[in-house]
Amino acid sequence: MPKHTIAVLEGDGIGPELIREAVKVLRAIESRSGVHFDLQYAPFGGRAYFDTGASFPEETKAVCDACDAILKGPIGLSLEDSRKIPVEEQPERGALLPLRQRYHTYANFRPVYLPPELIHFSPLRPDRIQGGIDIIMIRELVGGLYFGEKEHGETQEGLRYVKETLEYDESEIRNIVQVAFEEARKRRSILHSVHKSNVLMSSVLWNDIVFELAQHYPDVQLKHIIVDAAAAALVLNPQQFDVMVMENMFGDILSDLGGGILGSLGLMPSACVGIQKSYYEPSHGSAPDIAGKGIANPYSMIGSVALMLEKSFGMEEESRQIWNAMRQVFGAGFTTSDLRDPEGKLKIISTSDFGDRVVSALQS
Ligand code: NAD
Repeated sequence: MPKHTIAVLEGDGIGPELIREAVKVLRAIESRSGVHFDLQYAPFGGRAYFDTGASFPEETKAVCDACDAILKGPIGLSLEDSRKIPVEEQPERGALLPLRQRYHTYANFRPVYLPPELIHFSPLRPDRIQGGIDIIMIRELVGGLYFGEKEHGETQEGLRYVKETLEYDESEIRNIVQVAFEEARKRRSILHSVHKSNVLMSSVLWNDIVFELAQHYPDVQLKHIIVDAAAAALVLNPQQFDVMVMENMFGDILSDLGGGILGSLGLMPSACVGIQKSYYEPSHGSAPDIAGKGIANPYSMIGSVALMLEKSFGMEEESRQIWNAMRQVFGAGFTTSDLRDPEGKLKIISTSDFGDRVVSALQS
């Protein structure tokens, strides 16, 4: 029987609730595909820090090193709880960025997808999104401002100051832009390159590389858009977009806007792809405001499982079945409480009920 070993990092806040549903779906796929998933749970994030003294403990690194792919719940604490942890061990700095760096997961795929029958979830006017929303945002994930050198201290005048650097070399830009051209080719062949070259030198180099690579992709319609204009365009006319590519921080911000136009961050799964190893996580955070209430939307986590099956294990058919199963649950009139129900006709279900219904749809 084929076997895949998966490191499962439950994370913080709603992480464990979401992972439970993802695992139900994995087990359902297991029984219908004959593929065995060996799940290796390991601590990661804020809770890991409080339990072990490290937010990315050595034992977790060993589990991740040995696995075929990593399934990660969101991590992070409320601002108040974060401040109880030394700055360098706070979940993003101490766990998330080191995870990305360790496996060089440079290509972050964030689907912003709402099929036509679900556009009532979106806060946008229906006439602007008839036919649905279908965008892939591709975010560079291991460079730029988040990974640049940092310095802080006091000026000669006694003022506290901070300095952070934004660095990219041409190979880092070329790698991510190439991924985006290839992805565009598989879809509608429209690529929007998001930049800020009117202000940032990093974007001037970005655009140089984009122009160079474009010569190898004459079949892809290339469009350039400044990041602030892209934010407005996503709200006013999201249907113009197919694939969007951008540097790390632009992608962090614009992809949450993507979740906003869908109607909830709970509809935002993601794949963080490296050369050797990839990990899969919802695009959103640990949502401390709703943790433990059983109301979080597990679509983002189950969608991350679908992306893992497709990208890490070549199980495209099973991945498609998961997307279809989730659409069936919504199509049958069920929803989670984060999503809009303008006509008041939908039945609100819990996190675990949603997972159970996805499993039933897979089994039927
Ligand atoms: P968040 O993404 O956790 O939540 C923003 C809003 O979206 C909240 O109202 C939340 O309830 C809602 N939401 C998010 N996911 C949802 C879901 N699946 N179902 C229903 N509603 C959902 O952002 P935040 O509150 O700014 O951050 C909380 C923590 O998460 C912080 O510590 C932050 O640093 C961390 N974070 C982690 C990651 C990650 O693990 N990759 C990403 C972003 C933020």
